[in-house]
Amino acid sequence: MDYIFPPSAPVAIPVTGTTGLFPVHRIYCVGRNYEDHAKEMGHTGREAPFFFMKPADAVVLVGPGETAPLPYPSLTSNLHHEVELVVAIGKGGQNIRAQDANEHIFGYAVGLDMTRRDLQGDMKKQGRPWCIGKAFDASAPIGHITLAQQAGDIVNAEISLSVNGTERQRSTVASLIWNIAETIEQLSAAWALQPGDLIYTGTPAGVGAVVSGDLLAAHITGLESITLRLS
Ligand code: MN
Repeated sequence: MDYIFPPSAPVAIPVTGTTGLFPVHRIYCVGRNYEDHAKEMGHTGREAPFFFMKPADAVVLVGPGETAPLPYPSLTSNLHHEVELVVAIGKGGQNIRAQDANEHIFGYAVGLDMTRRDLQGDMKKQGRPWCIGKAFDASAPIGHITLAQQAGDIVNAEISLSVNGTERQRSTVASLIWNIAETIEQLSAAWALQPGDLIYTGTPAGVGAVVSGDLLAAHITGLESITLRLS
């Protein structure tokens, strides 16, 4: 038997300092995982973590030093940026304990959880799934992956995003409500993690709209920065 058409090539992310490519399996995202962002979204900032997903082919790969084009998506007039630390899983597992989580982490990258906020809001009001607001084409820009052992003190890294040179978001990874290890524990209780999974760990306060022509620059200490221009 042959495929009736060629299967899609895997989405693969270069790993800094190596010739290797990290093949993406799934993209998990954590909702409202910084207290100041939870509050700006109208919540108390204290709740159990919750998750949503994006398709692997929503990735927009951004190389170091390049300005990658980012298409302005359809159907929205309120596209938001959310800068996030992305955890790349190298070893799968179910019911991983927080104290063992580090063994499962391959590396880290800078990511953007782009959001059609108007559509997400409509879905929330109606109690419907968020997919149209979160899981659209090109909704998951990401930079090259830095190996965990080369990422330095990621737990205390600064995370920030600027638009046209003006800072919009700044925090530290230490301000995560559910830290990286706890997130892996909770996530792996719900899904069997696989090598190649990416976890977008949540965004700090300062999310807001971007428009065509805007230049987005995202940084996390110790990782490859990313820059994108909205078309
Ligand atoms: Mn997010």
